Amino acid sequence: MFLNAGNLAGRAVPRAFAKTLAFPAIRTLATVSPINPGSRGHKVVVIGGGSAGLAISHQLLHSGKFSQDDIAVVDPAEWHHYQPGWTLVAGGLKTKEELRRRLETLVDPKLKLYNVGVNAFAPEENSVSLSNGDKISYEQLVVAPGVSVDFGSVKGLPEALEDASSLVSSVYGFNYCDKVFRNVDQLKKGTAIFTQPAGVIKCAGAPQKVMWLALDHWKQAGLYKPQNVSESPIKITFATGLGGMFAVPKYSSVLEGFRKERGIEGLFQHDLVAVDGNTATFARPDGQEQVTRKFDLLHVVPKMGPHAFVKNSALANEAGYVDVDDGTTQHKKYPNVWSAGDASSLPTSKTAAAVTAEAPVLVRNLLLARDGKQPDAVYDGYTSCPLLTEYGKVLLAEFKYGGVPKETFGDLLGVDQAEPRRAFYHLKKSFFPWVYFNSMVKGTWGGPKGWIN
Ligand SMILES: Cc1cc2nc3c(=O)[nH]c(=O)nc-3n(C[C@H](O)[C@H](O)[C@H](O)COP(=O)(O)OP(=O)(O)OC[C@H]3O[C@@H](n4cnc5c(N)ncnc54)[C@H](O)[C@@H]3O)c2cc1C
Repeated sequence: MFLNAGNLAGRAVPRAFAKTLAFPAIRTLATVSPINPGSRGHKVVVIGGGSAGLAISHQLLHSGKFSQDDIAVVDPAEWHHYQPGWTLVAGGLKTKEELRRRLETLVDPKLKLYNVGVNAFAPEENSVSLSNGDKISYEQLVVAPGVSVDFGSVKGLPEALEDASSLVSSVYGFNYCDKVFRNVDQLKKGTAIFTQPAGVIKCAGAPQKVMWLALDHWKQAGLYKPQNVSESPIKITFATGLGGMFAVPKYSSVLEGFRKERGIEGLFQHDLVAVDGNTATFARPDGQEQVTRKFDLLHVVPKMGPHAFVKNSALANEAGYVDVDDGTTQHKKYPNVWSAGDASSLPTSKTAAAVTAEAPVLVRNLLLARDGKQPDAVYDGYTSCPLLTEYGKVLLAEFKYGGVPKETFGDLLGVDQAEPRRAFYHLKKSFFPWVYFNSMVKGTWGGPKGWIN
């Protein structure tokens, strides 16, 4: 989770978060470079200016050990998105535009921003190649380019998403996350299918968050009757490539209870492979026959995985993720290479909340390594998923390696976070977006530890 109530008390937290959501870009422009010819060197090069890259590069800067341009951030993006907010967009609660900032406005002027992509790593030479053909060298490298969302993993999906008249959408992209609510609002009767793929995705709770909000929307419109589904104009199916509702048993059993109580059909181990008109096709395990289903509305979560330039590099493990130690975040083969966030091999649920706990560990250990000392900070796998279960309620899953719950408010106030609560909803809807842009990307937010630096 993101909040430490103790530290919150000592901070000037604004009265109305809503007001601050329209906050202007705070930073002046960083030193943006279209790349100077030839090779440049930096003490630290950070690949990716997403949640992890920005938190880490600013935390490094706050250590006071670096001067102008000692740290470089490499990212080709024009915009930085608050992706956790896209589920709010899918629920009609926010616009996608209010959840993004120009990347260059989020990068401290003391950092060097290379606004191009990385093409390849040369860890034996301590350098990276950029998409314009230039090279930059480093003493320490942080690899945090996130994961790639593969819309093409489902046959026919890219075309269906682009077709404005189709009721096929996905929350997993800036271009499509607002189509979700338009489709939900448009559906007045028929079958709605919400999918989740087999395999690793970022924020594994998001596929069902979208469903719970849609259900509530239809319920409030009189179109869905959880207690009498046979009489409902709309029927709902959750089709997942996985074997259950959620990876952590404590939360999974609660969510499975909601699924049954609310009359949702569950198709487990059903992995969407194709969309053709109003037909969805699912692969089944162990050579079983594919299953086809007709739908009137389809919400799709495609497969995700490491970017090719990471997967095909010497830094990758067998699965293609940056092969780092589960505790220290240090690369297993190249001790001056580090990774956190979605691109890393850290075996936890891929979330921005996880980054809040990973980043301080990586930063401390990297600074120790620069001084010739052994890394001593250890990441315990902490991650969090604020699961919207209806409008106004959130189940706040927080856990560490092994799926063991690690609940901030459970420990602090004795509440059971598996019970959806209104207070958690306000954290998700207002506080987290606010603290993300005002503190996390600036390197001053330590998640459960509260404000740092
Ligand atoms: C729909 C949705 C809902 C989510 N909900 C939640 C939630 O409720 N709570 C939560 O904590 N997390 C949530 N997440 C997950 C969270 O957004 C990610 O886990 C987090 O952003 C990971 O940070 P990252 O820095 O590893 O990757 P990202 O934030 O994705 O950043 C990666 C960066 O790398 C850059 N990059 C890509 N290729 C290259 C290249 N070749 N060279 C250089 N840079 C490159 C990209 O432009 C990008 O800026 C959600 C995500 C989605 C999509």
